[in-house]
Amino acid sequence: MSPSASDLTGIHRVEKLYLELLFRCNMSCGICYHGEDLKRRDVLTHEQVRNALIYFADRYGCRQACFLGGEPLLYDELPRVLATAQQLGYQTEVCTNGYRRRRVLEACVPHPDLLRISLDAGTREAHDAIRRPESFDAAFDTMAWAAGRRLPFGATCTLTAQHIGTIAELAARLRDTGAVELQLHRLRPIGNAATSGLQPVTWGQTRALHDQLTRMDLGQMQVNLDILLPERCPQPTGHVEKLEIAPDGRVYLSCAEVAGPGQNVRYDFDQAALVPVDPR
Ligand code: SF4
Repeated sequence: MSPSASDLTGIHRVEKLYLELLFRCNMSCGICYHGEDLKRRDVLTHEQVRNALIYFADRYGCRQACFLGGEPLLYDELPRVLATAQQLGYQTEVCTNGYRRRRVLEACVPHPDLLRISLDAGTREAHDAIRRPESFDAAFDTMAWAAGRRLPFGATCTLTAQHIGTIAELAARLRDTGAVELQLHRLRPIGNAATSGLQPVTWGQTRALHDQLTRMDLGQMQVNLDILLPERCPQPTGHVEKLEIAPDGRVYLSCAEVAGPGQNVRYDFDQAALVPVDPR
């Protein structure tokens, strides 16, 4: 008898599934872990998304899905996959750079339970230097749009050694804008980040940010402060908080890092299952 998927992976529960719907993006950020993959045309079909959602719900008890890319607002069927995920009992999130594409966002309402805007640093100057001119203001325009529709929104920000000093200012602005959460994660030097000159943060830097944010009044906004401390990320266990699947089936497991290293496993969209990586 062939071993079950959980025997192969050691995973028995997945809290949140991150599905990259496509590689393409309307940016090419210096921070981006996709690197050259941003040029690839791979796109998931609605059926592949649906099958993955069913598989992870049935096999791993997953009930939260975050749709991302690349840029998910370039994915034509985003409103449809959001509706499908909700029908299957998932809480849904869209993680976007928030740069224009307002018509697509309008079509997605009311499906997402949360709109998450990705940021690369805490100030306009630092963010736009990594991403593109006017992208910081565009991201906050999109948050204001979400607030106007009573759509819960938050932000995610990659931490780098150069810009970690801007995060407290960002947290204060997000709090005042009405964000419900700020998700922080550490830069992993892969993809564009490997050659951009941006440096990963040290645990000393993140501990200092932890102490700074702990002293601030963050209001109702949730911040994942615990990932700023090294003791938060022990050796992997069978209970995975974030399992991310690329459009070609690569699997990343995340704790404190963005796109954390995966295990010796990939997701096969044809079989709709996790399978061992072919060692060849
Ligand atoms: S970091 Fe996000 S916004 Fe930037 S190129 Fe990558 S997918 Fe696009």
